[in-house]
Amino acid sequence: MTFQSGRHFLQIPGPTNVPDQVLRAISAPTIDHRGPEFAALTSELLDALKPVFGTSGPVIVFPGSGTGAWEAALVNTLSTGDRVLHVETGHFATLWQQMAAGLGLLVDFVPGDWRHGASPEAIADHLAADSARTIKAVCVVHNETSTGVTSRISEIRQAMDATGHPALLLVDTISSLGSIDYRHDEWGVDVTIAGSQKGLMLPPGLGFNAVSEKALAASRTARLRTSYWDWQPYIEANRRGFFPYTPATNLLYGLAEALRILKAEGLPAVFARHDRHAAATRAAVRGWGLEVLCADEREYSSSLTAVLMPEDQDADKVRKIILERFDMSLGAGLGRLAGRVFRIGHLGHLGDLTLAGTLAGVQMGLQLAGVRIDPGGLADALDVLRTE
Ligand code: PLP
Repeated sequence: MTFQSGRHFLQIPGPTNVPDQVLRAISAPTIDHRGPEFAALTSELLDALKPVFGTSGPVIVFPGSGTGAWEAALVNTLSTGDRVLHVETGHFATLWQQMAAGLGLLVDFVPGDWRHGASPEAIADHLAADSARTIKAVCVVHNETSTGVTSRISEIRQAMDATGHPALLLVDTISSLGSIDYRHDEWGVDVTIAGSQKGLMLPPGLGFNAVSEKALAASRTARLRTSYWDWQPYIEANRRGFFPYTPATNLLYGLAEALRILKAEGLPAVFARHDRHAAATRAAVRGWGLEVLCADEREYSSSLTAVLMPEDQDADKVRKIILERFDMSLGAGLGRLAGRVFRIGHLGHLGDLTLAGTLAGVQMGLQLAGVRIDPGGLADALDVLRTE
């Protein structure tokens, strides 16, 4: 590739841009993870994480990716042959249910069109039909990163409760935590799954499970448990300020700094900023005369927007032009959406002008690719940024 001056625009929906303060924190010398200095870091971290998940319960921090945190949630709560209910919101929901089936769980996969979130009514109907109570867990992706659709977790919980079914609720917040309002305790979630590389503004490498009392009780008899992902040794070691095996020390320095940044802005302001940026992005997309993939305005994602291309256009060609000409990475269409959509990430460490630059790059790329658009789209987005 030819030399590009200036900073690369990493506008995929994660990994996201890492703030300089976080990068500097990560570059500090590694310390003894069994020494007294480390214990102080652990307790600061574990306390600061709780409000981000909206929980007063334990949050387990694994060295691993989001996929590892998915696996941890399943293996700590379930046993071979248990039935689980997954909902087809898109590519990531599809991968998660494949993992569940591979682990020996019996998966009911509620079909979806990849433009809507998980339907509270469909989940309730499924649970109501399970009079023998064989379904042990409902697994939902809060923010489906492949489609830009956010499921309504609080409504899903209420619909589950209305059936009186005891299934656990496992929620993937990998591309929503720290970007979109989320409340583990208040919404009655049993396991919340997250990763470091999106709203938490860190590089990839940490996976998280926030755990309810009910999930902890389930973990005492779960037969899928494996030693690496086992919550119990974590909870015991964390009480003393340590980890059961070598943690990702330098990423934890970064996490402590990222949590300070989130606290300084304040979570309500963080969520409002993401909502504004998403609204500005949708204004641009509509102004261009293109379509937002998410089909229900109650489910618009505030962390990313998937843009549906006209039938005769290739989204990957647009992304290629934008990368080569303007040094900006956008998210590809995944699974059945390959070539049909591109995804604009607007989560994490992002200000108004970064978003304005992103949308300017997208507009120019669409024009260079020969997609028929109205160039008023960018101005529509700037109007939102200026006035709201
Ligand atoms: N779930 C969602 C919603 C995701 O967006 C991703 C990754 O982008 C994953 C799961 C998988 O996480 P990882 O790639 O960190 O293993």
